[in-house]
Amino acid sequence: MEAGEGGVEGATRFTLAAFAWKIVRAMELITILNHCHRQRGFVYQQARFGPDKKSIEVDVRPREGSAAVCSGCQQPAPGYDHLPERCFEFIPLWGFLVFLLYRMRRVDCRNCGVVVEQVPWSDGKHQLTRAYMLFLARWARKLSWKETAEAFHTSWDQVRDAVEYVVGWGLEHRTLESLRALGVDEIQYAKGHKYLTLVYQIDQGLTRLLWVGKERTIESFQDFFTVIGERLAAQIEFVCSDMWQPYLDVIRQKCSQALHILDRFHIVAKMNKALDEVRAAESRKMAQDGHPPLLKKARWCVLKRKRNLTAQQKFRLRDLLRYNLQTVRAYLLKEDFQQFWEYTSPTWAGMFLDFWCYQTMRSRIEPMKKIARTLRAHRTLLLNYFKARKQFSSGVIEGLNNKAKVTMRRSYGFRTFRILELALYHSLGKLPEPELTHEFF
Ligand SMILES: [Zn+2]
Repeated sequence: MEAGEGGVEGATRFTLAAFAWKIVRAMELITILNHCHRQRGFVYQQARFGPDKKSIEVDVRPREGSAAVCSGCQQPAPGYDHLPERCFEFIPLWGFLVFLLYRMRRVDCRNCGVVVEQVPWSDGKHQLTRAYMLFLARWARKLSWKETAEAFHTSWDQVRDAVEYVVGWGLEHRTLESLRALGVDEIQYAKGHKYLTLVYQIDQGLTRLLWVGKERTIESFQDFFTVIGERLAAQIEFVCSDMWQPYLDVIRQKCSQALHILDRFHIVAKMNKALDEVRAAESRKMAQDGHPPLLKKARWCVLKRKRNLTAQQKFRLRDLLRYNLQTVRAYLLKEDFQQFWEYTSPTWAGMFLDFWCYQTMRSRIEPMKKIARTLRAHRTLLLNYFKARKQFSSGVIEGLNNKAKVTMRRSYGFRTFRILELALYHSLGKLPEPELTHEFF
C-alpha cells in the first residue's frame, strides 16, 4: 500500500492523509473492519487510497468455497457470472470516504433463474451499505437532513434514501399486537389548507405514531383500518379524537366496540380560538369607536392559564376584569369551563356541562355560543372522558402533536407528502431498526 507521500520525506511535507493512513495501517484497517463489519461468506482483501487520496477503497471477495445466495429466494445457488465492480459506501473514517469494492456474482437459481446474488452489507438497491444508512438515519433524527448531509459530506438525497430504508425496514418489522388505545389527530402542513391525518397508539406502555394519511377525509382515515385489518381493529378499547366529523364517522363505523373519547387538548384549543376571535373583534371595534386601547397586548393575558401568567400580565388581567367587556365575559366562561375536567363522576360532569352551555347560550357572544352548541352536540362523547380517565393521560396527544409540529418545522425543505411522511415515521414511529453486530455511534 502506498502511503501517499510525494517522495520528499520529513515532518514539513507529511500530510494529514499520510499521517492518518499510518495509524490506519498500524492498526490494520482490515482487522478493524473484520471486527466491526464482518460479513459471513466474504473477506476483506486489501485497503488503499482512492485515486484522489480523499477516499479509502477496500476490496471484498467471496470467501473460498462459500456459495452465492440467490436474491430471489435467499437459497444458495451455483454461480453464473460476475457483474462489473460496484462501489458500496461505508461509514466515513477520519474525513475519508470509505468504499467497499465488490463484483457482484450472478447465480443460476433453480427457482428464480439467472439473478444477481444477495450480499449481506447492502440491500442491492442503494449505493450506501446498510451500516452507513443506519448510521445516517440515526443522525437524521437528531439533526435536520440537510445538516446530516453536510456533517458527513454526503447529499440530501443519500440521507433521504437512508431514512427511507430504515423506515421501510421498521414498518415491515414492527408489530401492532399491543394496540388497545388509538388516537387520531389532524395536523396542518404547508400553506393553505393542507392536512395530514396522524394516527397514534396511545397505550400506557407505548405511545407512537402508527400511520400518516394524506388529507383528513373519511377515505384517508379508513385506509388506516385497511392497513391494520379487522382483527386488530376489533381489539381496540379506546379511541381518542377531536370533533372532526369524518373521524367521528369512521370511528363509529370501524371501532364501534371502543370507548370513544374526545380529546381535551383539542377542546381547550377550540375554546382559546373562540376567545381570541372575540378579543380581536372587540379590540377592533373599540378602536373604531375611539375608546382607549384596553385590549391591546392583552392577548396572552386572556389565553394563558391564570397560574402561568407573569406578574405584569396578572396585573393587566386584574385591570381588565373591571370592565364589562365581551372579552372579559368570554374569558370568565373559558376559565369556568376548566372545572369540567376536574370531575370524576360522569353524572356531575354532565350537569356542569349542561349548565355551562345554558349560561353560554345566553351570553350573546357568538363564537362562545358556537362552542356551546358543538359541546352539546357531542355530549355523550365528552362524558366518555370520565369513564376512561384513569386509562391514559390526556396530555398524550398534545405531546405527540407538538413533536410532530417540531419535526415538520425542522424539515422546512420537505415539500412533498412522501418526505413529510418519512420524517414523521422516523421521529415518532418508534420503529425497530435493522440490527448490526457493532454499534457505530
Ligand atoms: Zn432463487
